[in-house]
Amino acid sequence: MKYDMTESEVTIGRERSNTVTLAGDTGLSRTHCRIRSVAKGYVVEDAGSANGTLLNGRSIGNAAEPLCSGDAIRIASTKIIFDDPLSPKRTWLSKLKDAVMGVGAKAKPSTGERKTSDGTVFGEGFVKCGKCGAKIHTGGKGPGQKVGCSRCRSVYVIPPRADR
Ligand SMILES: [Zn+2]
Repeated sequence: MKYDMTESEVTIGRERSNTVTLAGDTGLSRTHCRIRSVAKGYVVEDAGSANGTLLNGRSIGNAAEPLCSGDAIRIASTKIIFDDPLSPKRTWLSKLKDAVMGVGAKAKPSTGERKTSDGTVFGEGFVKCGKCGAKIHTGGKGPGQKVGCSRCRSVYVIPPRADR
Protein backbone atom coordinates (compact mmCIF):
# COMPACT_ATOMS: atom_id res chain seq x y z
CA MET A 1 0.00 0.00 0.00
CA LYS A 2 0.98 3.60 -0.49
CA TYR A 3 0.22 6.29 2.02
CA ASP A 4 0.41 9.92 1.01
CA MET A 5 1.41 11.85 4.04
CA THR A 6 -0.62 15.03 4.34
CA GLU A 7 -0.38 15.38 8.14
CA SER A 8 2.61 16.79 9.97
CA GLU A 9 2.74 13.60 12.00
CA VAL A 10 1.78 10.04 11.15
CA THR A 11 1.71 7.22 13.66
CA ILE A 12 2.00 3.62 12.53
CA GLY A 13 0.95 0.62 14.58
CA ARG A 14 -1.40 -2.25 15.19
CA GLU A 15 -4.16 -0.24 16.87
CA ARG A 16 -6.95 1.62 15.07
CA SER A 17 -6.10 4.91 16.74
CA ASN A 18 -3.00 5.23 14.54
CA THR A 19 -2.91 7.24 11.36
CA VAL A 20 -1.83 4.07 9.58
CA THR A 21 -3.15 0.83 11.07
CA LEU A 22 -1.41 -2.39 10.16
CA ALA A 23 -3.51 -4.86 12.11
CA GLY A 24 -2.10 -7.84 10.21
CA ASP A 25 1.44 -7.47 11.50
CA THR A 26 1.27 -9.08 14.94
CA GLY A 27 4.88 -8.13 15.74
CA LEU A 28 3.91 -4.47 15.80
CA SER A 29 3.26 -2.58 18.98
CA ARG A 30 -0.05 -0.77 19.40
CA THR A 31 1.67 2.40 18.29
CA HIS A 32 5.01 1.36 16.86
CA CYS A 33 6.62 4.39 15.33
CA ARG A 34 5.87 7.84 14.03
CA ILE A 35 7.03 9.90 11.10
CA ARG A 36 6.77 13.63 11.53
CA SER A 37 7.75 16.70 9.65
CA VAL A 38 10.43 18.95 11.08
CA ALA A 39 11.99 22.17 9.82
CA LYS A 40 14.22 20.25 7.44
CA GLY A 41 12.13 17.43 6.05
CA TYR A 42 10.99 14.41 8.04
CA VAL A 43 12.16 12.26 10.92
CA VAL A 44 11.23 8.77 12.05
CA GLU A 45 10.92 7.94 15.75
CA ASP A 46 10.21 4.77 17.62
CA ALA A 47 7.11 5.11 19.80
CA GLY A 48 8.40 2.87 22.57
CA SER A 49 7.71 -0.29 20.60
CA ALA A 50 8.58 -3.75 21.87
CA ASN A 51 10.52 -4.79 18.76
CA GLY A 52 12.11 -1.49 17.81
CA THR A 53 12.36 0.43 14.57
CA LEU A 54 15.05 -0.12 11.98
CA LEU A 55 16.17 2.48 9.50
CA ASN A 56 18.09 1.03 6.57
CA GLY A 57 18.76 -2.08 8.62
CA ARG A 58 19.94 -0.33 11.79
CA SER A 59 18.01 0.21 14.98
CA ILE A 60 17.28 3.87 15.63
CA GLY A 61 16.85 3.38 19.39
CA ASN A 62 15.18 6.41 20.91
CA ALA A 63 16.57 8.88 18.40
CA ALA A 64 14.56 10.88 15.91
CA GLU A 65 16.35 9.97 12.70
CA PRO A 66 16.15 12.26 9.68
CA LEU A 67 14.67 10.59 6.64
CA CYS A 68 16.03 10.72 3.15
CA SER A 69 14.10 9.78 0.06
CA GLY A 70 14.43 6.07 -0.59
CA ASP A 71 15.06 5.16 3.06
CA ALA A 72 13.74 1.82 4.25
CA ILE A 73 12.02 1.68 7.63
CA ARG A 74 11.42 -1.75 9.09
CA ILE A 75 8.94 -2.38 11.89
CA ALA A 76 8.27 -6.04 12.74
CA SER A 77 7.44 -7.68 9.37
CA THR A 78 6.50 -4.42 7.70
CA LYS A 79 8.83 -2.56 5.41
CA ILE A 80 8.15 1.09 4.69
CA ILE A 81 9.89 2.96 1.92
CA PHE A 82 10.00 6.67 2.54
CA ASP A 83 9.66 8.40 -0.79
CA ASP A 84 9.82 12.15 -0.95
CA PRO A 85 11.24 13.89 -4.00
CA LEU A 86 11.89 16.98 -1.89
CA SER A 87 14.01 15.14 0.67
CA PRO A 88 17.69 14.64 0.03
CA LYS A 89 18.97 11.29 -1.10
CA ARG A 90 21.26 9.27 1.15
CA THR A 91 24.80 9.96 0.15
CA TRP A 92 25.90 6.62 1.51
CA LEU A 93 23.66 4.93 -1.04
CA SER A 94 25.67 6.42 -3.87
CA LYS A 95 28.88 5.61 -2.00
CA LEU A 96 27.67 2.05 -1.58
CA LYS A 97 26.91 1.92 -5.29
CA ASP A 98 30.43 3.13 -6.05
CA ALA A 99 31.86 0.49 -3.72
CA VAL A 100 29.81 -2.24 -5.37
CA MET A 101 30.89 -1.05 -8.77
CA GLY A 102 34.49 -1.03 -7.55
CA VAL A 103 34.12 -4.64 -6.45
CA GLY A 104 32.64 -5.46 -9.83
CA ALA A 105 35.54 -3.83 -11.61
CA LYS A 106 38.01 -5.87 -9.57
CA ALA A 107 36.06 -9.04 -10.26
CA LYS A 108 36.25 -8.45 -13.99
CA PRO A 109 38.43 -11.00 -15.77
CA SER A 110 41.96 -9.81 -16.26
CA THR A 111 42.73 -8.25 -19.62
CA GLY A 112 46.20 -9.76 -19.33
CA GLU A 113 47.83 -6.37 -19.10
CA ARG A 114 51.37 -6.38 -17.84
CA LYS A 115 53.69 -3.48 -17.26
CA THR A 116 57.40 -3.95 -17.64
CA SER A 117 60.05 -2.06 -15.69
CA ASP A 118 60.58 0.42 -18.52
CA GLY A 119 56.91 1.41 -18.46
CA THR A 120 55.84 -0.57 -21.48
CA VAL A 121 52.39 -2.08 -21.08
CA PHE A 122 51.53 -5.25 -22.96
CA GLY A 123 47.79 -5.71 -23.22
CA GLU A 124 45.26 -7.67 -25.20
CA GLY A 125 45.77 -6.53 -28.79
CA PHE A 126 47.98 -3.57 -27.97
CA VAL A 127 51.30 -2.43 -26.61
CA LYS A 128 51.73 0.92 -24.92
CA CYS A 129 55.16 2.22 -25.80
CA GLY A 130 57.33 2.72 -22.70
CA LYS A 131 59.33 5.47 -24.37
CA CYS A 132 56.75 7.71 -25.99
CA GLY A 133 53.46 6.35 -24.62
CA ALA A 134 51.96 5.65 -28.03
CA LYS A 135 49.48 2.82 -28.24
CA ILE A 136 50.55 0.27 -30.80
CA HIS A 137 47.93 -2.17 -32.00
CA THR A 138 49.37 -5.63 -32.28
CA GLY A 139 46.62 -6.87 -34.56
CA GLY A 140 47.01 -10.55 -35.25
CA LYS A 141 50.48 -10.79 -33.76
CA GLY A 142 51.06 -13.15 -30.89
CA PRO A 143 53.66 -13.91 -28.22
CA GLY A 144 57.26 -13.87 -29.46
CA GLN A 145 56.44 -11.63 -32.41
CA LYS A 146 57.76 -8.12 -32.70
CA VAL A 147 55.84 -4.87 -32.91
CA GLY A 148 57.35 -1.52 -33.68
CA CYS A 149 56.28 1.86 -32.39
CA SER A 150 55.40 4.06 -35.34
CA ARG A 151 56.23 7.19 -33.38
CA CYS A 152 59.62 6.50 -31.79
CA ARG A 153 60.58 3.32 -33.63
CA SER A 154 61.05 1.26 -30.48
CA VAL A 155 60.62 -2.44 -31.07
CA TYR A 156 58.94 -4.74 -28.58
CA VAL A 157 58.61 -8.49 -28.41
CA ILE A 158 55.14 -9.56 -27.28
CA PRO A 159 55.55 -11.66 -24.10
CA PRO A 160 53.67 -14.90 -23.51
CA ARG A 161 50.14 -14.54 -22.15
CA ALA A 162 49.80 -14.33 -18.41
CA ASP A 163 48.05 -17.21 -16.71
CA ARG A 164 44.41 -16.47 -16.09
ZN1 LIG B 1 57.14 4.89 -28.99
